[in-house]
Formats: sequence, C-alpha cells, structure tokens
Amino acid sequence: MAIKQFKTESKRLLDMMANSIYTNTDIFLREIISNASDALDKRHIISLTDTASEDYDPMIRITIDKKNRLITISDNGVGMDKKELEDNLGTIARSGSFDFKQDLSAQDEADIIGQFGVGFYSSFMVSDNVEVVSKKLNENKAYKWVSDMNGYEILPAERNETGTDVILHIKKNSKEKKYDPYLETSKIQELVRKYSDFIRYPIRMEVETYDYKEDGTSSKVLKEETLNSMQPLWKKNKKEIKDGDYDDFYMQEYYDYHKPLKVIHYKVEGNTSYTALLYIPSERPFNYYSGDYKLNLKLYSRGVFIKDEAKEIVSDYFRFIRGVVDSDDLSLNISREILQQDHQMNTLKKSIDKKIKSTLEAMRDKDREDYEKFFDAFGAQLKYGCYEDFGRNKDVLVDLLMFKSSKEDRYVTLKEYLSHMKEDQKDIYYASGEDIAKIKTLPQLEKVLDDGYEVLYFTDTIDEFLTSILREYEGKQFRSILKSDLDLGSEKEKEELNKLNEENKELLDKLKEILKEKVFDVRLSNRLKSHPVCLVSDENLSIDMEKVLNSLDQKHVKANKIMEINPEHEIFKTLQDMMKKKEDLSSYADLLYEQSLLIAGLPIDDPVAYSQKIVELMIRNNRS
Ligand code: ADP
Repeated sequence: MAIKQFKTESKRLLDMMANSIYTNTDIFLREIISNASDALDKRHIISLTDTASEDYDPMIRITIDKKNRLITISDNGVGMDKKELEDNLGTIARSGSFDFKQDLSAQDEADIIGQFGVGFYSSFMVSDNVEVVSKKLNENKAYKWVSDMNGYEILPAERNETGTDVILHIKKNSKEKKYDPYLETSKIQELVRKYSDFIRYPIRMEVETYDYKEDGTSSKVLKEETLNSMQPLWKKNKKEIKDGDYDDFYMQEYYDYHKPLKVIHYKVEGNTSYTALLYIPSERPFNYYSGDYKLNLKLYSRGVFIKDEAKEIVSDYFRFIRGVVDSDDLSLNISREILQQDHQMNTLKKSIDKKIKSTLEAMRDKDREDYEKFFDAFGAQLKYGCYEDFGRNKDVLVDLLMFKSSKEDRYVTLKEYLSHMKEDQKDIYYASGEDIAKIKTLPQLEKVLDDGYEVLYFTDTIDEFLTSILREYEGKQFRSILKSDLDLGSEKEKEELNKLNEENKELLDKLKEILKEKVFDVRLSNRLKSHPVCLVSDENLSIDMEKVLNSLDQKHVKANKIMEINPEHEIFKTLQDMMKKKEDLSSYADLLYEQSLLIAGLPIDDPVAYSQKIVELMIRNNRS
C-alpha cells in the first residue's frame, strides 16, 4: 500500500508536536491512556445492549521494551477498523476548531497544546515512529497504521483479541531533551499516578519488586501491578480530598490550564440520589459561542460511565458547567435512547439546575469579585438564556443578570439598580452602544447623569433585545435614554417644552421639510445639556437594534429617527434668526442632521458633500 500524506492541518500540528517548545512532553501518556479509556467506555456501552457480547476483562496494559526503545499501550476497547484508522488518525479530529495561523507564536503553540490537549498526535512529541495495531469489535481482520510523521501507511496485521495497541518508538536523547527516562518503569508509574489516576479501568504494568523469602533473603522479580487507584475523585469523602486535588482533576480532565473558578462537590440523598462534582470554569472556552462547543458533563451510574455531553441533566443556559454526575439509581440496562425520556433525568436536571443557580447566587452575594469574573466569561450566556424560548426561563435567571452602570462603571444587578433609584424616578434607564467609552460620548447621557440618575450601559448585542422579553423588573419599565419616549423633567418643564415646540413650529416644520424622509420628526428636546443636537428613535425599534438587525442580514429594517435640537444652545438661536431673516436653512439642516448621524455612530450618505459644506462654512467664517 502506498504511503499517504497527512492532510495539511494535521501535518502542521504534527510539526508543532515534534518541534514544540512546549516542554511538558509528559502529557503524551495521558492522551493515549485517555483514548484507550474512551475506547473501553464505547465497548462497555455496546455490551449493555448487545446480548451476544462476549465476556472481557476491561483493562489497559503498558509494556516497556527498553532494548528496542518501545512503549506499548494496549487496551481491549472497541478497536478500529481500516476506515476508522484512516479517518481517525489520518486527519486531526479537531481540525478547524482552531485557527491555523501562518505564524503561530511560541505562546500560541503552548496554548493550543495546553488548552485543547492534542490527543493521539502528542505521541510524536516523544516518538519518531508510531504504530497502531487494532482489531475492531465483531470484526475478523486486524490492521496496522504506521507513521514516521512524514506520511502514514495502513497494512494488514495480526491481533487475536478485540482492541488496540499503540506502539511508540521512543526518540533518542537530543541535546535539548532527554527521552530515555520514558523507558523506565518508575517514570511511567509516576506519570500514570500523576495524570491518569482516576481512569476507571485498571492500568497494568510489570514492575520490579522484591520477593522476600522466609529465610530473610530477597530477590528482584517482575510482577504485574495496577498503577492507578481507579477511585474517582467524586466518590471520595470530602475530608480525604486534599487541597489542589479538585484543581488537578479539573485541569487534567478538561485540558484547562486555568484553575476553575468554583468547585461544587455535593451529594443528594432521596428519590434520585446522586453525587456531583461540578466546576465553573474561570475562562470562557475559545469556541464557547460556536457550534463546536460541546457540553462537558458526564453521567455515570454507580461509577460506571453512561454518557458524555449529558444535555438531559442540565439546562442549556448553564452549559458552561463541567463535571460529572454519578447517580445511584439509574438502571444500567436502559439504552441511551430510553435514558433521554426517563423522568429520572428530569428530576436530576431540576436538582442540578437548582444547585448551580444557588451557587451562582451565593457568589453574587458573598463573593462579588468571583461573580464578576464569572459574569465577564459567561454573563452573555445567562442573558441568552433569559431571551430564548420567548422568555420562558426569565424568572429563573433575571436576578443573576448584571449590567455595567454609570455608577462607578461597575456591574449592578437589577435589584441593586432599583435600590439606587431616585424617589421621583419612574423607569430603569439604559443606553445602548458598542462599548462604554462610546456610550459615554453620547450627548443624551450628560443631562440624565447630571440630574443624578443611574444609567445602565447596554454593550452586549443581546441587551436591548432582552428588554423586549423582560418588559419590566418589579414594576419598573426599561427606558432607553436614546428613544423619544424618555419621560424626563417635571410636569411644568414638560409643559414649557411643549409650548416651545408650538412656538417654533414653523422653524421645525421647515427643517423637517428640508430633511424629508430622512427623519421621522424634528423636535426641541429637554434631554440635551451642552450639545446642540442628537438623534433618537421613537419607542419602537432603536437605532442600535437597527444596526444589529441590518448587520445580521435581515431584510432592511429602519428605526424611526427623530432629530432633537437643544433649545438652550446657541445654534438654535442662530436657526431662529435665519428663519426670521428668511435665509436658506438647507445646508444648516443637513449639517445638523449629519452631525447627529455621526454622533449616533451611523454613516452619512454623502461624506464628500458633508465635507464641502463644512469647508464652505470655514471659509465664510474666516472672511466674516
Ligand atoms: P480525540 O481523542 O480527542 O478524539 P485523538 O487524536 O486522540 O482525538 O484520537 C482520534 C480518534 O482516534 C479518537 O476519537 C478515536 O475515535 C480514535 N482512537 C484513538 N485511540 C484509540 C483507541 N485506543 N481505541 C479506539 N479508538 C481510538
């Protein structure tokens, strides 16, 4: 059979492996053992439903051949057929999940290896040649995949039993790196204990021990031993668990080199008894909001693996949670399809959701710094959770939400916002924009803040959409300070403003006539302080939502834009004067409108014409 080339991405990853500056080559063993353990899980699942399945004693075995510089890791899991050897080992499974930039920096490489784990290919960190001999469950033929990194070959092979051998040809020591230690049983023992202790299947190896005779003499003998303790961390008594054990487990299991933000280890006794070890990550996984992200929650029944990605037992809005749930009551014989409908699953889900929620509430109230960190990473997820399904879960989540606010630019909850509200304040004020810095430049903000009101800064795309679902919070409506229905000022002030609008109707109508369909209305406003003009929308679609919807390629939507002029500003007096003298107002109207567009972060139709108008003004100004 011809030697095949690796796909480009795989090749790059392989090169990275071989030449990596990442010094922790030790992880290769963890990766291969974890694949073997997965293969044993898969076989176990099949055996649950396949009545004809033969008995086997699940295990992983490591053999070292020092003379020939070989380490073999064998398992009696499901195995792979020819096509699977090709598909699984010829291409990197995670391709596309990270961006293969042309020049990865050393830090990028370390990040990729550390963060994602790199699976099988990490064997090339320590080997210059790798063979995989495998026989798939219920197949007669075995095959061998061989590679020296430059390409690979798949050949017929011999293997009596179902399962897989991964044979590593360990590299010779180089100037920079010593590989010889990997051929020592003591080193392998150490690595298994360090990285793979909780693997649920025995990892066996022949080790040298002393055989003591009755006469007091002893001799060295080889004896097969199980290297890992196999007791899962979540099954241990909390008191036995040492500091750092939780973090170590987390970091190894989830390839996360950040410690978790929060560990939740608890036991529930009752109708549905279970033990859970849950983690809230401190950083958002790089692919969290992409289709690639998978829930990392495993379900066990009495210590036996049932399934990965156990979506049935946690709500989607908490899908950042990682960990394991081990139930005492699930029947092991139920197939995975039945499992999904099982009402026990629902009971579990309710209980787990509740626990996550109460943990988050406690963090919010007692450990604000951590909660803010959590919220930076996953807050948008909670907001989506509120929004989804027409707000079905909003009551569960609304009090977990926070928004940055004008009060010290810190996060506040809605409850906290309410507690800060001024006596005369009717609504919850917010302003939406790309980021806080941009929102702060909005002319509409100045007066509201001067009047002592707190304003929520809506910087997530979802925020303003959320108000349409939440509608109100404890009887208080959400009110954009960028919309026309903002109800500021006393009754008297409002009356005066109405009067002023009436008195200047002719001028305002004239401006409207010049601007035509560009604006819905032109008004005088009481929301501006030092700025001459601003653009607001009516109570329907906001200008920011218009931007979002149009960028999402929805059919062209338009907010009704209202140009508001500050009657206290010098420019207003100028307009009044010009009106009196019957001067042409068109270029002033256009300029004001175009400025209001720019301030709102919207493009102007004809920037060249705008610039010309400005230049004309500059020249005129200099001459007069
Ligand atoms: P990952 O384990 O993250 O999917 P790997 O590169 O480590 O990525 O492995 C690729 C695939 O090869 C696995 O998903 C699995 O299907 C297969 N594989 C690897 N090792 C074994 C094994 N010992 N037994 C059966 N299949 C295996």
